[in-house]
Amino acid sequence: MSLQLERTDVLIIGSGLAAVTVALHVPDTYRVLLVTKGCVTEANSDLAQGGMASAYLEPTSETHIRDTLAASKWTAQLERVRLLAEAGREAIQEMEQFGVVFDREDEQYALGREGAHSTSRIFHVGGDETGRHIMATLRDRLPGHVHVMEHVLIDRLLEHDGRVVGATGFTREARLQIEAGAVVLATGGIGGLLDWTSNCRTVTGDGLVLAQRVGAALKNITDLQFHPTLLASGTPELVTEALRGAGATLVDEAGRHVMAHHPLGSLAPRDDVAAVLTAHRGHVYLETSQVARMTERFPKLTATCQARQIDLALIPVRPGLHFQMGGIAVDEDGRTSVDGLYAVGEVADTGVHGKNRLASNSLLECWVFGKRVASALELKHGISDADGGTAYDVTDEVFQSFRRQIGKWLTISPAIDEIRSFLENTHQLTRTKHVTRQLAEQTLQLEAARLLALAFLELEGLDEQDVTARTAHGVFA
Ligand SMILES: Cc1cc2nc3c(=O)[nH]c(=O)nc-3n(C[C@H](O)[C@H](O)[C@H](O)COP(=O)(O)OP(=O)(O)OC[C@H]3O[C@@H](n4cnc5c(N)ncnc54)[C@H](O)[C@@H]3O)c2cc1C
Repeated sequence: MSLQLERTDVLIIGSGLAAVTVALHVPDTYRVLLVTKGCVTEANSDLAQGGMASAYLEPTSETHIRDTLAASKWTAQLERVRLLAEAGREAIQEMEQFGVVFDREDEQYALGREGAHSTSRIFHVGGDETGRHIMATLRDRLPGHVHVMEHVLIDRLLEHDGRVVGATGFTREARLQIEAGAVVLATGGIGGLLDWTSNCRTVTGDGLVLAQRVGAALKNITDLQFHPTLLASGTPELVTEALRGAGATLVDEAGRHVMAHHPLGSLAPRDDVAAVLTAHRGHVYLETSQVARMTERFPKLTATCQARQIDLALIPVRPGLHFQMGGIAVDEDGRTSVDGLYAVGEVADTGVHGKNRLASNSLLECWVFGKRVASALELKHGISDADGGTAYDVTDEVFQSFRRQIGKWLTISPAIDEIRSFLENTHQLTRTKHVTRQLAEQTLQLEAARLLALAFLELEGLDEQDVTARTAHGVFA
């Protein structure tokens, strides 16, 4: 395989809102290379439905701050939440300056409402296709000093003198080595590690592994959000919480309101609703008879339901993996604990979500912290002696078995026995120096799942040695 060399000032890994926000705001004196694993549109950002929260039209950001903290059960960091909500007031106008056109009704912004928000403050575009529209507009505005490469899998970060100075990867044809003055990880969350998720399949926790391998600190990576309402018929897809904000209620087969006990009803915080729905025996539906102008406001959902012959009045739902609150530990400007390495968006733990993210705060986080990263970047070039590294030597069949196993333990109540067995099984894998793109990609996923598995064990007061000493299962026993 041939070797392709690239040199840039800023390397941004990812093509979602976090990556694009950084790219839009980096000074034009810097050369920027933005690389992404698939097409640019293969990102959770493009799937975002409900919209972006902002207190733009409120007298102050205090209520947004309070709602964010309350949804997190007071585990989010006040100062970071304040920063998010305050800067978030400007975000709507800033995006408009880049050409984003938020939905309006009679000249006024058409604001949505979602779970645990005490008021309507969700700005959306194209009804429930906010992510697709925002991303298309912003990507169109990327300036000439930003070079974009699609279908690039980054598999390792390069180091020199304790500083990250670039990365290696694969294009579809060649091995790639990139020297960079600063590297920004914007690789998103982890949902793509399993099938029952709302997430894009390219979003598989790679950033956690890349960062951890160079010694960057990770935080709270077991803090995962399960969205209460994925479409329960066919391939899982998100049914936006904005539908409940517009009047839909969660009902059981007999038509009883399953969240009737909660003061906020169907609009209770996500973790509460997901827990109730997971424990519920029998099917749960979103009953939409109270939703006005359903097809106009939720065109994406309408089209999906029609294609799957699902009754729009009674939409079957069940919870699924949606969002990672924790991630790479960063300061308020996205600096990780390793020089030269920055992290932003869902891959980073900025502290704004605590143990439960308030709906529609994530796009806002990408924008607010993406801008901060762009202004904080400090460049220093260095040359690293890259070797090819190693990868797990797995066949596709074995890899798929591991994926199925991950799906068994990465649930709303993580199954410790399955975690043990998974760790035992991966522990037995051998590594090869003949690293292909496919092996590198599978290795990143298995290592990301191992990081999570080990973190869940740690919560139980166990470590891997306990597991490998105590269990003697063979692979996939
Ligand atoms: C269905 C759905 C609906 C949502 N709705 C909303 C909403 O309405 N409002 C809201 O605020 N939030 C919403 N969210 C959450 C929000 O969309 C995400 O948290 C946010 O978009 C994350 O942006 P990001 O830029 O950090 O990552 P992403 O947009 O996920 O982008 C990550 C990028 O990194 C690339 N990548 C990953 N690994 C590598 C690698 N090794 N090499 C190269 N590239 C790599 C991926 O291909 C991808 O391009 C939703 C999420 C989903 C899944």
